[in-house]
Amino acid sequence: MSEYKIENHTYDVVVVGAGGAGLRATFGMAVKGLSTACITKVFPTRSHTVAAQGGMSAALGNMGEDKWQWHMYDTVKGSDWLGDQDAIEYMCREAIPAVIELEHQGVPFSRTDDGRIYQRPFGGMTTDYGKGIAQRTCAAADRTGHAILHTLYQQSLRHSAEFYIEHFATDLILDEQGICRGVLAWDLATGTLRIFRAQTVVLATGGYGRAYFTATSAHTCTGDGNGMVTRAGLPLQDMEFTQFHPTGIYGAGCLITEGVRGEGGFLTNAKGERFMERYAPNAKDLASRDVVSRSMTIEVNEGRGVGEHKDHIHLHLEHLGPEVIHERLPGIAESARIFAGVDVTKEPIPVSPTVHYNMGGIPTNYHGEVVTLKDGNPDSVVPGLMAIGECACVSVHGANRLGSNSLLDIVVFGRAAANRCAETLKTGSIQPDLPKAGLEKAMDRFNRIHHAGGSLPTASIRDKMQRTMQKHAAVFRTGESLQAGVDQMNEVYASYRDVGVTDRSLVWNSDLMETFELANLLECAQTSIQSALNRKESRGAHAREDYPERDDQNWMKHTVSWLDEDGKVSLDYRPVHNYTLTDAVEYIPPKKRVY
Ligand SMILES: Cc1cc2nc3c(=O)[nH]c(=O)nc-3n(C[C@H](O)[C@H](O)[C@H](O)COP(=O)(O)OP(=O)(O)OC[C@H]3O[C@@H](n4cnc5c(N)ncnc54)[C@H](O)[C@@H]3O)c2cc1C
Repeated sequence: MSEYKIENHTYDVVVVGAGGAGLRATFGMAVKGLSTACITKVFPTRSHTVAAQGGMSAALGNMGEDKWQWHMYDTVKGSDWLGDQDAIEYMCREAIPAVIELEHQGVPFSRTDDGRIYQRPFGGMTTDYGKGIAQRTCAAADRTGHAILHTLYQQSLRHSAEFYIEHFATDLILDEQGICRGVLAWDLATGTLRIFRAQTVVLATGGYGRAYFTATSAHTCTGDGNGMVTRAGLPLQDMEFTQFHPTGIYGAGCLITEGVRGEGGFLTNAKGERFMERYAPNAKDLASRDVVSRSMTIEVNEGRGVGEHKDHIHLHLEHLGPEVIHERLPGIAESARIFAGVDVTKEPIPVSPTVHYNMGGIPTNYHGEVVTLKDGNPDSVVPGLMAIGECACVSVHGANRLGSNSLLDIVVFGRAAANRCAETLKTGSIQPDLPKAGLEKAMDRFNRIHHAGGSLPTASIRDKMQRTMQKHAAVFRTGESLQAGVDQMNEVYASYRDVGVTDRSLVWNSDLMETFELANLLECAQTSIQSALNRKESRGAHAREDYPERDDQNWMKHTVSWLDEDGKVSLDYRPVHNYTLTDAVEYIPPKKRVY
């Protein structure tokens, strides 16, 4: 393998990903004196977190009474009782100090008249266990992710973390005992391969929305961390749960934040009806995302869609007036003008449900440590490996994430991972040599894909995968359609063996990078659609027309999926944590989910 220029690096911690989760962990580790490297395939402030608009939830109570216990209740209910209640308690409680910390670190939040952090209503966020509408989502206009990401990057630079920017991580390096010892990355600008050795590798690689044809996610959301974990023989969890955001711009897919409805915007069908009143009499347009997306789909399916093909819905904010729009939703006005040609002060925005978020991912405990079902032990930890942010499944979102709970998740668990490493690692500990077999496996795979000489272009396989997922793993699912999707995905997955990379350069070779990304997406798509076929109930974002009810008796459990080298998926299940972390709050028993 002499054709490669190789450099070796050793750190206490290597974080893969520089979105909100990765940056919060990176500077948290650096502050604690751990030597920390952050590897990222795009410039940090271009990570998908930058696109988050609406805000970050925390029961600060700045705009009316609020309690973290109410936030916890909403999150458990939003998760359709698939979330782990110990982790949810941790997140909702830690939300309050986490936001205050961000404020002190410099995030320019919008303000109330008396100078506090401005908070807006968001879907599924209530007061007093569902009785009122909460104003809980802390916002920096409609650019909250942008504000948070820039602040976290500045903090990371201030605390001397080292960045490897525009470096693509391909595989983890594990030893024979299953301990993670490092990661292999390709320097996109110079072609150098960098072998990183670390006491702990933290995956913070984001979601895999690009397994679908239309998604609000950036083109970089390709499930790379999930792929690495799968290839290391470790499981993924709850991969069938994909969130469709109710308001992607029709055709373009780009997001119109739920904050629009939080500020008083509403949806109508072709008859001009505010149909959400029928589906969610209390919360109406601010019901949980899965509920709103299903309601919109029913309206369209029953012939009440708008437009020439009657296949989408209108979102109104004309009545809010130019002043509110200008102050609270400036970015939305711009997106609607550019992507839909609409002046939001005069006409509605055409919208339809669009793939937005992955509830499933790499299973972890609430410290961010990756767990596995090894030896039947649901809590056994993979030494040296952590996962945080959208690539992880803690699980705080269960079967459906509430809006503004993800910016919260990435900050809270990025911080938790840093705290855990500070407790468990010793700065500068001598590390063993990298395991030969593990390193060779990673290098061989790099070499194989670099020289892939098959007949199928990466883009054509990707296109087939995206169309299969879009059609068969949609808002509503049936056994028949999922089975057809599984059969097709098996073929698409197998066709990767015949992929061809046309350019052998190692410098700025986007074809090669996309071929690595495609492998990761295929692994996510494959586990996702098979997990969906096997779950014979409707829960949260997973809505089966042939099994329309939630079935707690048989299905209140997490799906755990493994993928072997031939693309064969094996599934198992583990119990939901039906206990809380402390006595400050009681377990919330399941009940019917109405809004
Ligand atoms: C349009 C949009 C709006 C949203 N709005 C909100 C909102 O208002 N409130 C809310 O709570 N949530 C929102 N979400 C969800 C939330 O923003 C994301 O879930 C969250 O930001 C994900 O953060 P992350 O740090 O896990 O990943 P990301 O921000 O996606 O970052 C992933 C990082 O991993 C790196 N990476 C990936 N693969 C590799 C690799 N192979 N090698 C090296 N580096 C790699 C990337 O370079 C990047 O730095 C929104 C999502 C979208 C798409």
